[in-house]
Amino acid sequence: MKKNRPIPVTSPLLPPLEEFIPYLQRIWDSRILTNGGGMHQALEKALADYLGVHHIALFANGTLALVTALQALRVTGEVITTPYSFVATGHSLLWNGLKPVFVDIDPVTFNLDPAKIEAAITPQTTAIMPVHCYGTPCDVAAIERIAENYNLKVIYDAAHAFAVRDGGGSILRHGDLSVLSFHATKVYNTFEGGAIICPDARTKQRIDHLKNFGFVDEVTVVAPGINGKMSEINAAMGLLQLKHIDQALARRAEIDALYRRRLAGVPGLRCTRVPEDVQRNHSYFPILVEDEFALGRDELYQMLRGNDILVRRYFYPLISEFPMYRGLPSAAPALLPVAQSIARKVLCLPIHPALRDEEVDRICDLLLAPARVRAA
Ligand SMILES: *Cc1c(COP(=O)(O)O)cnc(C)c1O
Repeated sequence: MKKNRPIPVTSPLLPPLEEFIPYLQRIWDSRILTNGGGMHQALEKALADYLGVHHIALFANGTLALVTALQALRVTGEVITTPYSFVATGHSLLWNGLKPVFVDIDPVTFNLDPAKIEAAITPQTTAIMPVHCYGTPCDVAAIERIAENYNLKVIYDAAHAFAVRDGGGSILRHGDLSVLSFHATKVYNTFEGGAIICPDARTKQRIDHLKNFGFVDEVTVVAPGINGKMSEINAAMGLLQLKHIDQALARRAEIDALYRRRLAGVPGLRCTRVPEDVQRNHSYFPILVEDEFALGRDELYQMLRGNDILVRRYFYPLISEFPMYRGLPSAAPALLPVAQSIARKVLCLPIHPALRDEEVDRICDLLLAPARVRAA
């Protein structure tokens, strides 16, 4: 019998190679490889149009964009953030010498729980860095109210939220800044890449200086900026991806619906609630493995991996559990009960445009089998 190919949790959106060749030809003809060349300029414009935002500054990756966003707003002292995210969220604070203050998450959205933010504010707090986890929008209205009351900046880590929209438009319009990642594992990729979304031209200009060593002109350096620039080849990939992104998002939506149909009513397996009034991007498909399920979360993880279904436990361990964070007062597990619980139940199932219906079915068959054994 033919062996099934291993199924990764994600797989990059990769248009046909021949479609990329003309872009490469243009780069070669121009002899401009980076530093805001034609591809870079074209992608900033095309992405602003596609996403429905005013200004966008491209970066070499999302982590440098987060680090730079904090610098652009001159954030100091303590920053309230979520423990339930990819470790780069916390690392961007440490790279700026800032103190992360972890606040627990909401059990339904897995995002920062606004009801618990105020108690974590001290005179040193200057900003909040929430994450739109799995592309589910944060409670942006509640966060904005708190930020206004306490005069705090808000920088959204929107690495999962490409193309997500709420009733009023792009989710990226909220907060002072939003940061995207275009890493290969994300919905939309430029091999490596990222961006800061900002509301005004002045802030974009400051960000553009900061990502180019702080250079304002040939002889003027205004800040200890970093090299965060996106190269022409990455920008070209971004332009090509935009031609395929709608189709890719539509396929992701189909897979999401297929999982939900097949997994509905399986005792102990819980899909996330679909938020109302949101155009989702289906960037992840997390499920919670509850106590009623026939296998523990880690047993299920091993079983699926044994069958070449390369599921991932995003986000386990929590950021607050890594050695460089766990000594912080706010990292105490007793203060983060919801995040602790979700991190020990969550499993992200494969979802990407190249995934076939038969493969989703095979994954669901494997998920349903332990439940059947238990029922019998
Ligand atoms: C991927 C990711 C990042 C980092 O982005 P890179 O482009 O890989 O540097 C930051 N935050 C979150 C939540 C992410 O998922």
